[in-house]
Amino acid sequence: MAEQSKRLRSIDTHFLSSVYHALRRNEHVEFKPRIRQDVGIVYDVFGVDVPEDKLKIYYDRGLIEIVGEVSFPSCPICGDTCLHIFLVCPECNSRNIEKKDLLIHYDCGYTDSVEEFRLSSEGVYHCPKCGKVMKRVGIDYGRPGFGFICRDCRTVFQVPLVEVECEKNHKNRVQQLEVRRCSVYRLSEKSKSLSQVFEQVEILAYELEKLGLDVVKFASLKGVSGVAYTIPVYVKGDPSLIIEIAPEEFIDERYPLLMSIEAVDIPNSVMIIILPSSFRPELESIFNPEKVKIIKVENLSNSIDKVVDEVIKIVGARILGEI
Ligand SMILES: [Zn+2]
Ligand SMILES: [Zn+2]
Ligand SMILES: [Zn+2]
Repeated sequence: MAEQSKRLRSIDTHFLSSVYHALRRNEHVEFKPRIRQDVGIVYDVFGVDVPEDKLKIYYDRGLIEIVGEVSFPSCPICGDTCLHIFLVCPECNSRNIEKKDLLIHYDCGYTDSVEEFRLSSEGVYHCPKCGKVMKRVGIDYGRPGFGFICRDCRTVFQVPLVEVECEKNHKNRVQQLEVRRCSVYRLSEKSKSLSQVFEQVEILAYELEKLGLDVVKFASLKGVSGVAYTIPVYVKGDPSLIIEIAPEEFIDERYPLLMSIEAVDIPNSVMIIILPSSFRPELESIFNPEKVKIIKVENLSNSIDKVVDEVIKIVGARILGEI
């Protein structure tokens, strides 16, 4: 279990650092589902194949949002999307068929691939069935084009049956297949905002870890209300410490309210919010000072040292039981 949560954390770090770099390069980021044989539906998340259910966790946490849907054919018996197509003989269901350029002898009706008819030096064909000579195309013989020949029952046909088999060997006709709808995702504002503070979070977490604190970067937590949060820096403890940090362009009128709700929704916690100095003081009045501490900085990326100092001061006070 511990291993699994560690793995999930490293995927988060990969995800947010990749978002950060992709946005800096102005890349359009979208996660589209595709079929990987033997696995099923996966999403390419910055070079890592992530199964559908794992990406759903990102959606539940608000890191990605749905932009559309695509359908995949699936087995009506087991739901498998790893399907294999076979062309089969409509007469005997054999899969031992060949695609050939066909020739038909009108006299006897014999049809086979062109190579089965012997072509003499005078440019005439000989029918392998009746032995007659065929001189004129359209009169003695026809060239209907490509078709299929069953190597087991010798039937010649233009349209083969299509058989679809899943990994569990359930055989179905195309028209019997079901469709599975899968979401196409894009980045949410939340993940863009988190990725922007990625470096600051790394530095802050590193400094707090040096103090011997149990720190989780981009922690995934569920509030009492059931809402999932991604906390930039979370310090485990009694009470725990939630450090919220967002770039200025992502802080709007709703931000203080959302933060207040989050502070109350996660029980036995104290919140530190790092805000830009431009943040309007009247909006701060919404915060309960017992529950929320505010640090204001001029420019986040230039003042990470100041942030670290301030956080350590608050953490120190907390350890001494002052807050
Ligand atoms: Zn199946
Ligand atoms: Zn056949
Ligand atoms: Zn013939």
